[in-house]
Order: sequence, then structure tokens, then C-alpha cells
Amino acid sequence: MKPYNDFSKLLNDELLQILKTTVKEEGIEAFIIGGFVRDAILGRKQKNDIDIVVLGSGIDLAKALQKKLPHAKPIQIFKTYGTAMIHWEGIDLEFVGARKESYSSESRNPKVTAGNLTDDQNRRDFTINALAISLNHSDFGSFIDPFNGLQDLENKILRTPLDPNITYSDDPLRMLRAIRFANQLNFTIEAQSLQAISKNAARIKIISKERIVEELHKILSTSKPSIGFTLLEKTGILEYILPELIALKGVEEIEGQRHKDNFYHTLEVVDNLCPHSENVWLRWAALLHDIGKAPTKKFKPPIGWTFHNHEFVGAKMVYKIFKRLKMPLNEKMKYVQKMVLMSSRPIVIAEEQVTDSAVRRLVFDASTEIEDLIKLCEADITTKNPNRFKRYHNNFKLVREKIVAVEEKDQLRNFQPPVSGEAIMRFFGLHPCREIGIIKEAIKEAILEGEIPNEMEAAFERMKIEGKKLGLTPHEKSV
Ligand code: ATP
Ligand code: MG
Repeated sequence: MKPYNDFSKLLNDELLQILKTTVKEEGIEAFIIGGFVRDAILGRKQKNDIDIVVLGSGIDLAKALQKKLPHAKPIQIFKTYGTAMIHWEGIDLEFVGARKESYSSESRNPKVTAGNLTDDQNRRDFTINALAISLNHSDFGSFIDPFNGLQDLENKILRTPLDPNITYSDDPLRMLRAIRFANQLNFTIEAQSLQAISKNAARIKIISKERIVEELHKILSTSKPSIGFTLLEKTGILEYILPELIALKGVEEIEGQRHKDNFYHTLEVVDNLCPHSENVWLRWAALLHDIGKAPTKKFKPPIGWTFHNHEFVGAKMVYKIFKRLKMPLNEKMKYVQKMVLMSSRPIVIAEEQVTDSAVRRLVFDASTEIEDLIKLCEADITTKNPNRFKRYHNNFKLVREKIVAVEEKDQLRNFQPPVSGEAIMRFFGLHPCREIGIIKEAIKEAILEGEIPNEMEAAFERMKIEGKKLGLTPHEKSV
């Protein structure tokens, strides 16, 4: 591989010149290091996060640079970490003094002392993340690549600079990062490293839930998350973070009847969904859509394997998982729950006859999430029987067409009762009572069944009929 010296593509030229002179004037050494260098070489879309390691005080260099950068925002200084951040023209520059780290077994937070560039490169997680480019006058632009990171980039290999057992044990978050990078970059984790991850899997317990979720989000945001989740499973890490998925593994057979392996099915569903939705929460829903199947699984002759009520049980499990992983228990969680709860509804329609009223009810219940739900269900079709595959997809096409037709006729997505409780009370001269609810429900049912349109006038007529059935008479003023 050619050495990377095309700085014009790597960095804004103005910034580069100012960096170069400032480093020289300050009389210290500095290097661009880490993810930015890696992504530049790989030609990945740049995130504009640039890490600069300084032999000396990162804060001092940042202060000197900030004075020279036109229109730079005020510098942010984090004294405890010895870091400083400059935001300039959409670029985030982070400065840190080179450091040496030593770890204890209980924490991933090391004891940090000042070090030289080699110390700093040694503490990096992967050879491809330890590449540094000099900003110094004497060898400006040259690579400092003590672990052959360039070679590993070319061969698409993830390797730790030092003994992988120590690297992963010191900071077990690196195991998740390895798997996430393998997934994002389509790299292979080198054999010894993979072994070390399996060996240290249990140490993931010392990592904060927030950091774990951050990595899971990144894995779910790739175009093929099954790669990451398969690695998490094979190394034993998944057992510690999402045991509910492990419980879906395996195929049982009784009296010649088998059910599918719901773990691999789930991963296929997530992958199937990816080209159709970037929404990470919908991907979470795909990942969790079948979790209720493990606790509800029963063999019931003569039917065979059943997973009665698994959607309901699964939706409840979503809450527990979100809580355990310290994920926000907000509308995102409710959305995932709703998707899990409704995940079999469209399939039932698609397997059987696509009736108008079933589609109306589906649109009513799914409301604004109907599109997402259909996407999830289409992704759920993993049958290897080509006839069935085609039939299910055709049925979903029909479901989609009927949704459009239903929507043209009636607004069911954000259903508002066309006749209000107050109007019913006024008409029959009632005080709040259960009859009002009964009438409202009957009107809603009539609309969903397609007996009347979702319109005020028709609903009002229906209200009169339903009131009569309940023995109500119009209030004098209403006549
Ligand atoms: P991305 O930004 O895509 O997540 P990155 O490699 O830039 O990837 P950052 O978290 O931004 O990741 O970290 C920047 C650099 O810091 C990395 O390239 C790596 O050199 C180092 N680094 C980050 N986290 C760790 C860690 N847990 N152990 C060792 N080095 C790390
Ligand atoms: Mg980064």
C-alpha cells in the first residue's frame, strides 16, 4: 500500500497550515491518530472528528491553535482528562497529551501517566486504530505505524497491538468494539484475538450498560447486523447482554415435528429489514420481535409447536430489557413494544384472506406506524419454500394496496370519533354514563367493519339507532 501523504484530501488545507505552524512555534510534537486516519485511508465517509495526540500538554497546543483559527468557537477544556476540544468549521479537533495506561481488574478506567508516542500507540485497541501521522516540521505527513496497521487495513484484519488477552481483559469494551468494527468495516477478527474475546467474554459485565448499548446501536446500524450478532453469540458475549436472544437458539423435535431456530430466523429478519429502513428502533423491534417465543413454547398434539401469546409476552419483555440495559423508557420503547405486540397481525392477514375489515382494523390499531409494521412483517418472511415466499409477498402487496384504498375512503390512522361523547350526551340528554361508551364503541365498530363511512353524518344516524337499542330517547331539545 502507498503511504498516505495526500493531506489535501485528508484535511482542510487552511487548518493543516495553521496546525503545522502552531506545532512548530510551540516547539512540541503532535500527531493525528486513530479513527480519522483509519477512515481516511479506507476512504470512508469522514465524521470530522480528529484526534490529535501531543507529546506534552494537549491543552496548551489547543489554546495556541484556537487563537489562530478564524471564527473558532470557544475552546472546551476538560482538566480531569487533560483534553481540549476545538470546534471549527464543522470539524471537531480533540487534543490530548500522549499517555501510558495501567489497569486494575475491577475497572476499565486505567491509571494514567504521561507517556511518549509509543506508549500512546500501545494503549490503542487495534493496530488499524493506532496509526499516527506526524504534524512535526522534521517529518511532516509521515506515518508512524509500529504494528503494521497499514498492512492490516489492506488485509482487512482486526488485531490488537499487544497481547489480545491483556488488551481485552484490561478494557472489555474493546471486545464489543472489535465485533462492531468487524461488522461495520467488513473485517476479520484475527484468530488469537477472537479466542481472547471468547476467553474474556464474562468480563463484559464490568462495562456500563450505556456503552454496551452504544455499540449495539452501531451494530444494528450496519447493513448486515447478523454479522455482529453472530460474533456476539459465538464468542459468548451475547449471553451476558441479551440472554433472551440466546434462549431462542436451537431446534426441538417431538413426534417428527420441528420448529425453526428462532435465533437465526431473528437475525435473518433484521438483515432483511435493513435495506428498507434505517430506523434503528425498527431494527430493535426486528431483533426482539420473537423473544416471547422462548417462554411460551409448548408442544401441543395434534397441533404441534405453539407459541401462544408470544407477542404479548415479548412486548412485556421489551420493557424489562430496556430497563436492564438502561435504555430510555420513553416513546421509543413504547414504539418497539407496539411493533413486537403487533408483529403477527399482518402475517395472519397475509396468510389468510385479505379482507377489507381486517385491513381497516390493522390501520386503526397500527395508526401512524402502519408502514413500519408492514416493513417488519415483510422482513419476517424467511421461508425457504419459494411458493410460499411468493404467496406471502403477494399477499402483502395486496395488504398495501388495500391500505391505500382504505385511506382514500376513511381516515383511520389518527382515528378521532366522528361523534363526541358530549354530542351523544346532548342528543339524549344524558349525564356521564356507560351508555355513552357503548354507543361510541358501536360507531367505531361500524366504521371499522365498513358498514358506515368515517363521517359525522353517517355516524350521527348510527348513534340514533344504537341509542334506540339501549332504550334511549332523544332529549326534547334534540327533536
Ligand atoms: P468511531 O468514531 O467510528 O466509533 P473510532 O476508532 O474513531 O471509531 P473513537 O471512540 O472515536 O473510535 O476513539 C478514537 C480512538 O481512540 C480510536 O481510534 C482508538 O485509537 C482509541 N480508542 C477508543 N476507544 C478505545 C478503547 N476502548 N481502548 C483503546 N483505544 C481506544
Ligand atoms: Mg472517532
